[in-house]
Amino acid sequence: MKKIKRLAIANRGEVAVRIHRACEELGIETVLLHSEADKESRAYRMCTKHICIGPSPIAQSYLNIEATIQGALAGGADAIHPGFGFLSENADFAEACTAANLLFVGPSAKSIRTLGDKVRCKELALQAQLPLVPGYDGKNQDIAFLCDQAEKIGFPVIAKAAAGGGGRGMKLIRSREEAPEMLESAQRESQAAFGSSQVFLEKYLDRAKHIEFQIFGDSTGQVVHYHDRECSIQRRHQKIIEEAISPSLTDELRTKMGEAAVAIAQLGQYQSAGTVEFLLQDEKFYLLEVNTRLQVEHPVTEMVLGIDLVKAQILTAQGDFVISPQQHRVPQGAAIECRLYAENPFLGGIPSPGLLGEVRFPEGPGRRFEYGFEKGDTITSFYDPMIAKVIVWDETRPRAIQKMIRVLKDTIIFGVHTNIPYLLKILSHPEFVTGRMTTRFIEKYLNEPLQVEKSTEA
Ligand code: ADP
Repeated sequence: MKKIKRLAIANRGEVAVRIHRACEELGIETVLLHSEADKESRAYRMCTKHICIGPSPIAQSYLNIEATIQGALAGGADAIHPGFGFLSENADFAEACTAANLLFVGPSAKSIRTLGDKVRCKELALQAQLPLVPGYDGKNQDIAFLCDQAEKIGFPVIAKAAAGGGGRGMKLIRSREEAPEMLESAQRESQAAFGSSQVFLEKYLDRAKHIEFQIFGDSTGQVVHYHDRECSIQRRHQKIIEEAISPSLTDELRTKMGEAAVAIAQLGQYQSAGTVEFLLQDEKFYLLEVNTRLQVEHPVTEMVLGIDLVKAQILTAQGDFVISPQQHRVPQGAAIECRLYAENPFLGGIPSPGLLGEVRFPEGPGRRFEYGFEKGDTITSFYDPMIAKVIVWDETRPRAIQKMIRVLKDTIIFGVHTNIPYLLKILSHPEFVTGRMTTRFIEKYLNEPLQVEKSTEA
């Protein structure tokens, strides 16, 4: 296959910088396809070329397939990396890239269609004999019928948008009485957010951990897993702190879950980086979904394995990546990632967009800072208010936690509020420190806005 000379980055913020860095090291030029709002950003300053593909609202820029393809072609690119979010799991986009003679850095459109679709993925999981959360995922969307199904499954039940993602479009239903109203609202929201009102039901597991496996398919069709991450610390079903490897798995469970992850990826003829997500409760695991893209939290896997998943993706797309069986397969130490947001933890986490003043990250061994904005840039309200991801590695989990606390305390971000005080609370909570946290951690311990504490330090 031909070597990539210039790659278009169809994304923004820290992931655009991450992709640019990988390209730079591989000797590939980059074209940033950006919206009007994103001229003041690190990726804009770094990339070889930039093409504005539309106004700030995502529907008119980052989600616009035609504008993205035209931008890549106008920029002279021969490949596109979609990052995560936006068009990254859109099979039509992957196909449109191929039709325009642009290499899509990611899995095939066919894999995205089968594995990336929550309902079709469950069908494949049944073939691979993977355990699923009990539920209903049929076509019948009649409210009375769905209520009966929910009753059969047993409350609490969670209703999810079949076409959903990113923690959105989910409704927890606790009883038969509230079921009709909740289901109707789930269908309505799903239609508005994802263009399809189809929902499916799952038993709600109320003391589960979120464990996921990084999978990778190389240029020869070989599929492996690069171990596990735990992402149980979530707010409104969105991850805030992730780590590798999970502190909660026995060797036996790790082996079984890893085999299950590879089995479903193989059935879906998976190429490139992907993630198989599971819920784990009472030593039993259940498939949640497959994400057919690079994951936000991929750096923790890179840190414990000494790999570069973005380079591996790019090399795979140009037919140059072959996984050697022994290499990079034994995780070392512990890595933790915190997502740093411009938000006000003292006001329940409302976004705090604005112009960044001084921004300083305390560099040091085993510390990695992935950021898309610096002093003088603006965190806008058009997009997710993430400023940076802070990742640390150390020899043991307790030391990695200690390091993360130190790093966050020494991080300087002026101009906007940040969630650092909130992250610090989580990192020092006994349930997190002992690794016993479940996905309900925030709901249980940090549901109220933080109180301003008077400093006791002299
Ligand atoms: P999305 O694609 O929107 O991220 P997922 O299906 O991956 O949605 O679920 C996101 C999170 O929601 C999970 O990590 C978990 O915390 C919670 N969740 C999803 N399904 C269930 C369930 N059946 N029981 C308990 N929690 C669930």
